[in-house]
Amino acid sequence: MATKRDYYEVLGVAKDAKTDDIKSAYRKLAMKYHPDRNPGDKEAEAKFKEAAEAYDVLRDDDKRARYDRLGHAAFQQGGGYGGADFSNIQDIFSHFSDIFGGGGGGGGIFDGLFSGFGGGGQRQQQAGNSLKCRVNINFKESFTGCAKTIELNRNELCETCKGSGAAAGTQPKRCPTCNGRGQIHQSQGFFSISTVCPQCGGAGSIIEKPCADCRGQGVKTKTVRIQVKIPAGIADGSRLRIPNEGEPSLQSGPRGDLFCYIFVEEDQFFQRNGNDIVCQVPISVAQAALGTTLDVPTLQGRANMKINPGTQHGQIYRLRGMGFPDLRGGAKGDQIVAVAVEIPKKLSPEQEKLYRELAKIDDQNVSPERKSFIDLVKGYFN
Ligand SMILES: [Zn+2]
Ligand SMILES: [Zn+2]
Repeated sequence: MATKRDYYEVLGVAKDAKTDDIKSAYRKLAMKYHPDRNPGDKEAEAKFKEAAEAYDVLRDDDKRARYDRLGHAAFQQGGGYGGADFSNIQDIFSHFSDIFGGGGGGGGIFDGLFSGFGGGGQRQQQAGNSLKCRVNINFKESFTGCAKTIELNRNELCETCKGSGAAAGTQPKRCPTCNGRGQIHQSQGFFSISTVCPQCGGAGSIIEKPCADCRGQGVKTKTVRIQVKIPAGIADGSRLRIPNEGEPSLQSGPRGDLFCYIFVEEDQFFQRNGNDIVCQVPISVAQAALGTTLDVPTLQGRANMKINPGTQHGQIYRLRGMGFPDLRGGAKGDQIVAVAVEIPKKLSPEQEKLYRELAKIDDQNVSPERKSFIDLVKGYFN
C-alpha cells in the first residue's frame, strides 16, 4: 500500500474542525463513493474505505488526540490502524450505523437513495401500508404498563386469489406498456424522466379477468384483534410502533407497521410532570404547626410521609423514586407532594374558644416576621 494520506486531508477538513463538520464531511464522501453508486469501481471502494478509516479516528476524541500527537504511527502497532477492521465493506455499514441507518433499516441519511447496502441496486419490494390507531389507557396503566387488545379493520390478502386480484385459473399479465417495470422512462435531452405507467398504474401487471371475491383488488377488509404491549412509563401522546401489523404488500414486500397513539386519561388525584408524579395533600392548621405523619396515596400503594412542624402552605415534599420509570433507562421520577394548609371555614364552639385563646397568645408572642410587618404598617401612618 502506498503511503497513507493524512486523515484531515482525506476528509478535507481543517485540523481544528469540529466533530459535526467532520461528520458531515464524511457523509459527503460516503455518498460520493458509496458502492451502490459505484458498482465494480475498485478506486471508489478504496476511497470509501479510506474515508471510513479517517472518520473512525477523527470522530473519537481519544483516537484523534493520539493521531494529532503521533500521526499514523499512533496506530501502527499490530499491523492494523488500531480501530475497526474495514477490509469488508459491510463492516463499514454496521460500524457507522448512525450514518448508514442500522444495517439496512430505516432512519439513516441514505434512506431512499440506495436500495440496500451492498445489494447492488436490486429493486425493493414495496412494503404494505402502515396503519394508525388510538389506544386509551388510564393513569395507573401508564405507570405500570399494560397489554391492550385493539380491534381494527385492515386489508388482508384475498384468500381466493392470494392477492393477485386475478380470477381462479388466470394470472395477471405483464403490462405491455412498461414491460412490467411499473414506470416508463422518457429521455429529454440530458435528462431521463420516469413516470408511473399509465396503463397499469405502477403495478407492472394488468388483470384481464378480475377475481370475483375481491373484485380484482387482491385484498379484502377484515376485522382483526391485536395484542399491544404498552411499556411502563409511557406518556400521553406517545407513538408506539408495532412492526408488521400494518397491511400486507401486494408486491411480496414486507407488511406495513401499525402505529398506536397513546392517550392517557387524566387522574383525579395525580398529575404527571416529566417523570415526576405530582399531587396535593390537604392538612389542618394544627398539623402544619405541630407536624404529623400522613398516609399519602402513591401508585404503588400507601406511603408514610412525615410532615415537619412549621410546614407552610404550598411546601413541597418528595417521595424519592416513586415517580414514573424512565423509558430510555434513565432515573425514575419522584412523587412530589404539595401540602395545602386548610383554614377552617366554620368553627365548632369548642374550636372557636381554642382559636380565641390562641389569638391571645399570638398577640403576646409576636413572631419576628409579624413584628417587622407591624413596624412597616406603623411607618406608613405616622
Ligand atoms: Zn381475490
Ligand atoms: Zn405498466
